[in-house]
This record gives sequence, structure tokens and C-alpha cells, in this order.
Amino acid sequence: PKLVYDFSEGNKDLKDLLGGKGANLAEMTNLGLPVPPGFTITTEACKVYLETGSEPTALRDEVSAHLDALEQRMGRKLGQADDPLLVSVRSGAKFSMPGMMDTVLNIGLSDVSVEGLAKQAGDERFAWDSYRRLIQMFGKTVLDVDGELFEDALEDAKRAKGATTDVDLGAPDLRELTEHFKEIVAKETGRDFPQDPREQMDLAVRAVFDSWNGDRAKLYRRQERIPHDLGTAVNICSMVFGNLGPDSGTGVAFTRDPASGQQGVYGDYLQNAQGEDVVAGIRNTVALADLEELDKKSYDELMQIMETLENHYRDLCDIEFTIERGKLWMLQTRVGKRTAAAAFRIATQLVDQGLIDEAEALQRVNGAQLAQLMFPRFDDGAKADQIGRGIAASPGAAVGKAVFDSYTAVKWSRSGEKVILIRRETNPDDLDGMIAAEGILTSRGGKTSHAAVVARGMGKTCVCGAEELEVDTKRRQMTAPGGIVIDEGDLISIDGSSGKVYKGEVPVVPSPVVEYFEGRMHAGAEDADELVVAVHRMMAYADRMRRLRVRANADNAEDAARARRFGAQGIGLCRTEHMFLGDRRQQVERLILADTEEEREASLKELLPLQQGDFVQLFEAMDGLPVTVRLLDPPLHEFLPDITELSVRVALAESRKDHNENDLRLLQAVHRLHEQNPMLGLRGVRLGLVIPGLFTMQVRAIAEAAADRKDAKGDPRAEIMIPLVGTVQELELVRDEAEQVIAEVEERRGVSLKLSLGTMIELPRAALTAGQIAESADFFSFGTNDLTQTVWGFSRDDVEASFFTAYLEKGIFGVSPFETIDKDGVGALVRDAVKAGKATRPDLKLGVCGEHGGDPESVHFFDEVGLDYVSCSPFRIPVARLEAARAAA
Ligand code: PEP
Ligand code: MG
Repeated sequence: PKLVYDFSEGNKDLKDLLGGKGANLAEMTNLGLPVPPGFTITTEACKVYLETGSEPTALRDEVSAHLDALEQRMGRKLGQADDPLLVSVRSGAKFSMPGMMDTVLNIGLSDVSVEGLAKQAGDERFAWDSYRRLIQMFGKTVLDVDGELFEDALEDAKRAKGATTDVDLGAPDLRELTEHFKEIVAKETGRDFPQDPREQMDLAVRAVFDSWNGDRAKLYRRQERIPHDLGTAVNICSMVFGNLGPDSGTGVAFTRDPASGQQGVYGDYLQNAQGEDVVAGIRNTVALADLEELDKKSYDELMQIMETLENHYRDLCDIEFTIERGKLWMLQTRVGKRTAAAAFRIATQLVDQGLIDEAEALQRVNGAQLAQLMFPRFDDGAKADQIGRGIAASPGAAVGKAVFDSYTAVKWSRSGEKVILIRRETNPDDLDGMIAAEGILTSRGGKTSHAAVVARGMGKTCVCGAEELEVDTKRRQMTAPGGIVIDEGDLISIDGSSGKVYKGEVPVVPSPVVEYFEGRMHAGAEDADELVVAVHRMMAYADRMRRLRVRANADNAEDAARARRFGAQGIGLCRTEHMFLGDRRQQVERLILADTEEEREASLKELLPLQQGDFVQLFEAMDGLPVTVRLLDPPLHEFLPDITELSVRVALAESRKDHNENDLRLLQAVHRLHEQNPMLGLRGVRLGLVIPGLFTMQVRAIAEAAADRKDAKGDPRAEIMIPLVGTVQELELVRDEAEQVIAEVEERRGVSLKLSLGTMIELPRAALTAGQIAESADFFSFGTNDLTQTVWGFSRDDVEASFFTAYLEKGIFGVSPFETIDKDGVGALVRDAVKAGKATRPDLKLGVCGEHGGDPESVHFFDEVGLDYVSCSPFRIPVARLEAARAAA
């Protein structure tokens, strides 16, 4: 196969072969845009190199042929002494990847050709500046010399001249500096900087290949689940120069505002500079609009090109360009990154322009972006005193008093204070403090640091790695640049969506998108927020497109009502144990402690009307829509006092000779019910089978409540769900009893209730015997929390805080399997259970109610395996609706 493509031979759909950069350079070339000529070495060549340790034999000749053609076209040869052709060598994988070698500019310069360049350009300073840049970049990225050695030398040179920026260094200074750089290379590598231009080029190409397997690149791929065998392409592009004087320059531009989505002129321009200067922020850039005054011809041409690109890519594009002595050149374009708000607005704008249809618009946004738009945020209009910035690790806006240790965080929050926990980095000992805090701020660590991972898991706002903030936990103090000191107790505000840290209290406003879902803001209003209008429209597209239904996990009328406003089509999981907390705990305690049948029945009788009342409210809130009520699940000891506290109390009383019969009995019961592994113990259906009357009481309450609603002319649609079933026999026993109770209620109340009865599939054995279980179940709801716990053998309550950070850092998984479904393991069981269940009972209804039901990637999986619905917490419902549509589109 062909290993090298001229820019004119590729196109934007060849990203696998030419990488993102190469494919887009080819596309622009074919659109007739001014791209400096060049060629791309394919990812196939890279793959061969990575597999065999050497370049494919044909590569050298193919590169020579393309280089010859390039030289012909440009009328000069690479590194030619009197007038050198120079090229850049740039990496470009299918996905842009931090940690890979980026760019080496000015390849082709040598001790000889630097003089030729100086003459041709009529600018000695420029030539030496270009040469020193080559040695610096080449030394660092190709020859692996510590980059700081060059930077220090540059600083020394500036200091010696009293210069503030590199522009103040003249030709003689740069010539001297170049010599110095060459010495550094010789000393560090034991060889001279290569003078042969082709050797420079070949070494740079090989360095790009090698960088595919750099440590950071590998880690990034593991975390982002990018396959390791894609390889990278290499782009070789003739150089154009933005540093040839005031009529030259370089810039970046966007076809729309990537922050808001607004159409207009957005970008930055830097006169007399080369590419990396803009990013490095060495000198101040000017707004792109000012280019119109500096160079009207180039500006007009650029505007024209941007319009061409937008219409062609049918999306926001970002662009890198250079102007060389008044001539505009396009160096790169790609579909640009954007904020969540911009993504929604751009998608609807493009629909209005007729550039994309609804299905495509749905692919232009995602659930994570929608979730981000639903967090409360700091008031844009308010005064805010920013003191630092870190990594936006877990979104949200949090305000509180600064505390520097977990103990204080807990103590202060118990007394009603809002606190922000500030640490250099967190570890599992900080967990209590993290739970107590409104938000977490660290000065070290990245997106997979302990703080970031745990905070995301808890849905807590977190900014991590704010390195300019100095945290001194001993002195309970944080120092920001400029000597600003934050003491314990001072108010600070952190923005987990932008990473910004503020001194004092910044006012928080609710998200307009949530106000819209809540019905407090209307998309039809004349002065409607543009973002709200865009979200409204996208949700309408989504609901037209999706196959999956979306239900809510909710166990009270308030949550049910909110879920309905957010678009829920029923309740997929009502956890009845949540109805037994608070005041009712005592009653459950009595049930557990009952010694005689009479005592037990008495306590069940007390619970029945309470449960019935709960269900009436729930069925009313979800009138006309299905409500899946799950019978009691958690281990009983969760309803009893803590074993240690109680033991101490009893022991103290004993020592005072103060016998408390009740406490003693309680302690005995706590001991009797104590389990080493309660998650694997007396829970779910096991409870129902061991405590006579418990499940029948719940079934009766459901049936009576449904009958009450019928009497009130309502439309109750209850479904009864049995948790933690491992074998069909368990289900049959419960089912027989339940059916008797239901029949009895129906007869007595003179109604037909049409209650369906199903099971959770949340144990591996249940999944493996799904075909049998379906004999006795009207529906399955996959409990992927417990299924993940039992398939991996991970304790769902402990792992996130203990070893998951290490697992994430090592790239064993990029995301917790409790957050995104593990398709290969847990998912495979789900897929097979769906098949087996359907084989037994073709009309089996299928859903999922684990946390994964609201996770974007998992929703796609559930759509693919053919579930009927996903169920998730009320706030995740819009996200699930959107992702269900994206899966179907
Ligand atoms: C599950 O296990 O996925 C589930 C929904 O049940 P719970 O989280 O209540 O155990
Ligand atoms: Mg469960």
C-alpha cells in the first residue's frame, strides 16, 4: 500500500490513515484554500515501525519521491545552501493526543543554509532566530535533551542583554545563543546537531513514531480507551513564516464563538511571530477583528475562507493561520471544541441554516454537556475576586469557609457551617471531611487524583491541582499569587466547571436549564434565554427520536412529581426501605425484635396503613404511568442501633448496676443479626422468606393503595418487584403468596388491579438462569449496582475510596465500573439474560434501575441490547432522554 500521500491526494474522511491533521490539510487543499504544499506519512507506516522496530523498506523511496515533487514545486531544495526549502514535521493521530510529540519547525536549517536564509529574507535576525528554534525544538523532542537547559540559556542571554522579550535580542545575540544551544546538544547527547537536512527530517519522523509509545501518550489512551494499535501519521509541510516583520504574523480563529455559539469574528492574532508564540503567551495578542486594520486583504480572505469551511464542515471550525509578508496561509483546521452551552446553541442554529437535520443535531451534543448545564453556577454579573485556577474536576459552584483538615470540616459542618475542604491532596483519611464539605479544593493532582475521583463519585464540586495556590495545612493557611492569604474560616468560592477559585462569597444562581425543566421558565416566552430555547428544541428532537423509555428512581411523591416534570415516563424503582427511615425506624425495630407471632403481627399491622398511604401518594403523582415498587431490600441490622455504641451503653449501665431490659434485648438482636458481609447476607428476597408476613404486608399495602386510587377514579399502574433473587424457586414462593393477597384484596374491594410481578436481575446466578426465572416473572429490571458488585467482587460501598484511585491512575479502567457499565463483563451477562428471558417469554418487559441507567455511555449499551426502559434519579432524566435519542439516531 501507498505509505505517503500528497496533501492533494487525501480528504477529511481518511483520518484513520492520515490522522486528523493530515486529513483536514488534504481537505483544505482540495477546497482550493491556500495550504502550504506538503505530504503525509500514513499511520500504516507508523504501525510497521512500531511492530518491527524499523521503517517499512518502501518508505524511504516514497518520501524521496514526494520530497522531490515538493522541491520542484517550490523551486528550491530542502536545506539548499543559498535558498533553503524548510519544512515542519508534525504529528497527527486520528484523535488529538496530549503526550505525543507535537511539532518541529524549520527543518532544513544548518550552519550553511542559515546564511542563505538570511540573504533570501534580507533579515539576519530572523534567520538566526529560526535556527535557534530548530535546535531547541529538535533537541528537546527528537534528541530528548531536557528543555529547561535551552530555556535557561535563553533567559541568560536575555538577562545579559537586559532584554525583556526574545524580540529584543539581535542577530549577534541569537547567533551566539545558537552556538550555545549546539554545545548543549553535543554535551547532552554525545553527538553534534545533525547538519544534513534529510537526516534531520528522518530523525524527526522517527521521533514522531516513537512518541506514540511515550508514557503519557499510553496513559492517555488507556484512560480514554483509545486503541493502542492505531499509530500516528506524520505531516511534512513547507514552512511559511510569520516572523518576517510587521507585515507577517500568526493567529488562531474560530468560525463562531466557542464559548457562546454566537456567530461573529473570534480569534487572536500576533504580529511578527511564529506559531508557538501565540500559545506561549510571550507577547500580547490582538483581537482578530483588529487584523482588518493591519492587513485588510488578508483579513477579507480569511473571512471568506472561514465561511467556506463552516459551510463545508457544517460545524464550528477552529483554524491556525500564518501571514507571510502579506500572503495568507492556512496551517490547520478542525471541527472545534466548544462549551456545553455553545454546543446546544450551535446545533439548533445549524438546523435553522438547513446545514444539518435533527438527527445530526443530536449527535452534536451529549448528555455530559446537558448535565453540566444543569448545575447551579456563579452569577456572571456578580463581582468576583479570582485568586487562582485549577483543574475543573467535578462540576458545580460551591461557597464556604476555608478549612484545612477533615476533622474541622466535620466539626464545623455539624454546627451548621458551610465549608470548603482545602488540602494539598486528599487521601482516604479525608473522606469524612469530603462528605461534610460543600466542595473540595486541592493544589496538587489531576483529573484522576483521589480528590477528583471521589468528588465526582459523590457529585460534589471539586477543583484540583490549583498549583499556584500554596496550601500550608500546619498553619491552616492558603497563599495565592500576590501574597493574598486565606486563613481558616475565610469565605472562598470554587467553580468546579471552570476550575476557578475566588476569594469571598460569589452569589450562586440556579441553572436556567433546571428552571426550564421545573417549569419555572418557558422556552416560548418573548425574552426567553437563548440557551433554554436551544435545550427545549433539542429535547423535542430527542423525544421524537428515541426508542428507549425513561423512568425515574423515586420513593416519594415529591421526587415523583419532579421526575414527571423532567420527562419521566413512570417509576422504575421505588426503594421501599427509604420509607422505613426516620420516625418509623422504631416500628421496624419492633418487628425485628418480635418474639411471638402476636407481637410480629401487631407491628406489621401498624406498618400497613403507613405503607399504604405512601403508595397512594406515589400512584397519584404518577397517575397513568407505571410505578415499580420494590419490596424491602437492605439487611435488617441497618434498622437497628450501631453495635459498638449500644455495647458501650449497655456496659456502662451494667457498671452502674442499672439494668435496661430493652437495651439488653436489643443488643442480643443486634448480635444475632450481625453479619460479616451484610451485602451478601440476609437481604432482599431472603428477608421476605425468613420474616413471615413482611412481604405480604407490603404487597397488601400496594394492592390496597391501588384500589384506593381506583376508587378515586385514578389510574394506578403498580408493578411489584422482588430484589436479590438468585433462583426461580425464591421467586415462585413469593409470587404464590403475593397472588393470594392480591386476589383477596381485589375480591374484597371489587376491583381488578392488573398488578404485574417481576424481579430484579442483580446476581450473577440470576443472570445465568434468566431463562428459568422468566417463567415466573412478568418483567426484569437489571440491578447493575449489585450486579457490578458481585460480578467484579468489588464492595460497592468501599472501593471508590480505597483502591480505585490507583486503578484509575494505572489505567486499568478509565472510569469506575459502578459509573459506566462494564460492557465486556457485567454487560455480557445483561445481554445474555435479555436473550434467555425473551426466549422464555417474548413479552417480557425489560429495564435497568442501577446507577448506570442515567449514565450516557451505559444508556447507549442498554439501547443496543434491547431494553425497554432505563430508570435513573430525577435529575438524570433529561440526560437519559437525550442519550437514548443519540443512541437511536
Ligand atoms: C442495584 O443493585 O442496581 C439496584 C438498583 O438496587 P440497590 O442499588 O438498591 O441495591
Ligand atoms: Mg440492588
